Amino acid sequence: MTELAYLVDVDAAYERTFEAHVVALPPGAVVLDRTYFYPTGGGQPADAGTLTRPDSSGTWTVVDVQRKAGTVLHRIGRTPPGLPPLRVGELVGGTLDWERRYRHMRLHTGQHLLSARLFTLCGRRTASARFSGTGGELELEAGPRELPAREELDRDLAAKIADDPPLKIRYVPRLEFERAAAGRSSALALPQGVDPVRVVEIEDADACPCGGTHLRRLGEVGAITVLPPAPLVGGGVKVSFRLGASSPATPRA
Ligand SMILES: [Zn+2]
Repeated sequence: MTELAYLVDVDAAYERTFEAHVVALPPGAVVLDRTYFYPTGGGQPADAGTLTRPDSSGTWTVVDVQRKAGTVLHRIGRTPPGLPPLRVGELVGGTLDWERRYRHMRLHTGQHLLSARLFTLCGRRTASARFSGTGGELELEAGPRELPAREELDRDLAAKIADDPPLKIRYVPRLEFERAAAGRSSALALPQGVDPVRVVEIEDADACPCGGTHLRRLGEVGAITVLPPAPLVGGGVKVSFRLGASSPATPRA
């Protein structure tokens, strides 16, 4: 098992460096006892970065991160010639590609807000969401009302981001979560066996089950621009969005 250290609380998502022990070395990959590298999942791409020996005698590039049977596989590039290969039990330092990770945190938090506002404004729940680069898309279920005009939605999102509410993470018993599930913006079914449920809350805006990495405050999202929606077969709609160039808030290291 790999401890998913980035999940613990909102602050854990801001850890850029950490130390961990190597517990297994499957071909082309490293398994650590704990990690802050996010593995691909829930629409969020994997982190990138490096693993380094504490004495700096070797550095490996992490090119992909995947979850497999309770462990996290850090896929690494080839060991440079002349460098002793990594050994089980060895201590290594992990360093995240922070620019990439922070962009994903902004996109992911922006997506939660967009899903929440679309649920509030037109009663449509989010069936799936994904993002990469500087943009993302979500698919909304068919619903009782049409989407608001894009300019109206952009203004609504900007006002919420300017309010800068904090995000919180709570662990809620599954039964308690399911009792209130109909009032939430996410239409995704919880995987079997998830209990308690990790609920990510944007104060006064949203509460959504999620195992991703998010911001401390909504203001760090910066700006979101919604692109023209595309109708889907069955009455659903695909909504794409783009992130503004930079976040006005500077995260604490
Ligand atoms: Zn999330």
